Amino acid sequence: MEFTLIDRIRERTAQSRDDVRLGIGDDAALLAMPAGQELAVAIDTLIEGVHFPVGTAAADIGWKALAVNLSDLAAMGATPAWALLALSLPSANADFIDGFATGFAQLAQSYRLALVGGDTTRGALTISVAVHGFVPPGKALVRAGAQVGDAVLVTGTLGDAAGGLRIVQQGGHQDAQAADLVERLNRPAPRVAAGLALRGCAHACIDVSDGLLADLGHICASSKVGAEIEAALLPRSSALLDLFSDADATAFALTGGDDYELCFTVASRDVAQVQADLARLGCGATRIGRIVEGQEVIVRDRDGNRLEPGRQGWNHFSA
Ligand code: ADP
Ligand code: MG
Repeated sequence: MEFTLIDRIRERTAQSRDDVRLGIGDDAALLAMPAGQELAVAIDTLIEGVHFPVGTAAADIGWKALAVNLSDLAAMGATPAWALLALSLPSANADFIDGFATGFAQLAQSYRLALVGGDTTRGALTISVAVHGFVPPGKALVRAGAQVGDAVLVTGTLGDAAGGLRIVQQGGHQDAQAADLVERLNRPAPRVAAGLALRGCAHACIDVSDGLLADLGHICASSKVGAEIEAALLPRSSALLDLFSDADATAFALTGGDDYELCFTVASRDVAQVQADLARLGCGATRIGRIVEGQEVIVRDRDGNRLEPGRQGWNHFSA
């Protein structure tokens, strides 16, 4: 039983790479590291009902399980190469496996990433993917390098996945804009090319998985600095602004998870060049604030007044 499921996964994810000396089918995979590179490794687990809504299509789950991991490699400036997949399933459901493997393979193929092994067990639907990528020694993008005076930028738009989740929770999408937001939730596009372009110029980088404030907070904690964000500068899609109030869209952009954009800091003199480079890659990058002394992430409105989270969304500190 277990064997046919593994065969189905192997068939659908087949990807030949010279550096995979032995892939799925033995007790361990044998992989050849390219000379002079460091190995970047990451693992993330997705649990049904926690990391994706119950009822999510199998192909979307397969895509997302890989995407969230590629996003971690992107945030390090690493080139993806190999993955392992540990799958726990309530039953030997061939349709689910076929859909899952198809979604996984769609994303894997665009990076020539090889699935080289894994484990398959019975249990609540849980997916762990481990990814491996390469980065030249000393060139990885880490969280700890932000400097006072740096500009803070993000790729793409923020809050779309949180908007998509709200739409799913309210019963599904009715129009094309809502479908776009749900797509951002189910099929996040890891910013791998952007991560590679940021090597050598970003001082610090993280992917936005838990929400901008939380993740920028990790950069600040690691770098021992603070940050000031201007709410008016947050990049938000027209779909998000059309379907939600400005207050909701702001809250989603600041605290919504699952966008998988990159948040990074660069010296202010490098902002224009970085923006031109990332515009060429299609995602673009928006300057949203700056690194300051301190240890907090502060949000300001257009007039420079401080905003705080409240029951009605983001309010003035004093209100
Ligand atoms: P073992 O008992 O030696 O761990 P398994 O039956 O668990 O063997 O796995 C057999 C082969 O199939 C191994 O090469 C393993 O890496 C691979 N494999 C098992 N499950 C998966 C999966 N979900 N995705 C990819 N490869 C898998
Ligand atoms: Mg095993």
